[in-house]
Amino acid sequence: MRTKMIAGNWKMHHRPQEARAFVEELGRVLWARNELYGPLKEGVAEAVLFPTALSLAAVQDALGDLPVSLGAQNAHWEDHGAFTGEIGAPMLADFGCAYILIGHSERRHLFHETEVELARKLRAVLSTSARCLFCVGELLEEREAGKTHQVLERQLLGALEGVTIPDLTDRFAVAYEPVWAIGTGKTASDGDAEEGCGYIRHLVADRYGQETAQHLQVLYGGSVKPGNTAGLMVQGDIDGLLVGGASLEVPSFVGILEAAL
Ligand code: PGA
Repeated sequence: MRTKMIAGNWKMHHRPQEARAFVEELGRVLWARNELYGPLKEGVAEAVLFPTALSLAAVQDALGDLPVSLGAQNAHWEDHGAFTGEIGAPMLADFGCAYILIGHSERRHLFHETEVELARKLRAVLSTSARCLFCVGELLEEREAGKTHQVLERQLLGALEGVTIPDLTDRFAVAYEPVWAIGTGKTASDGDAEEGCGYIRHLVADRYGQETAQHLQVLYGGSVKPGNTAGLMVQGDIDGLLVGGASLEVPSFVGILEAAL
């Protein structure tokens, strides 16, 4: 009953002309293959691309009416103001971003975004028409110290303080991305990925009830490739994938869609 989601986080890759070429090639593949186009068109599955802010316009233009959504990689917690270098969530939503990614581990760890800031950013996204894809995940040392559940609880429930059930079911999706699996080639085992995603659903069930938890879309991310997609997607609590490196080339992104849909 939950929509499958395959999201490509391009990070700081693909200039506008490369982004446009990617979408044009993706479009040629999707138009030609009804087994991929059909589920996206019917809304059984959703594909989302997260280009850099600079490439949003090129991707939007090249997408035309292709059933693929546009997403932004970050947003500021204020709508507008004296925040040099930042973009407000309403600006991104007005532009046509259906999703805004908040809390990616690179934002948390390289740019030192705090949990308080991320909670404010989440609220800023929820005040717009865009949906929030919120990332959580433990560091290797936290996993080795047996603190994975504690970290997921703090990162997720801390940010959800005050978020309503309708927002949670309609406007929010969460990505479990163990930091040690991101860009390292070390995918979490299907079992570890399922365990993390299941724990997230359990946390939401505990606070908001089973029905809300059963509606929540939970994605896994971290070294997803065409070859490990099917094993992850058959897990009961994994509804989709947040893909970094393998989303940069059309053949591997399509390979993931093929294995997932
Ligand atoms: P990766 O990145 O697929 O390259 O590991 C995932 C992510 O950072 O979202």
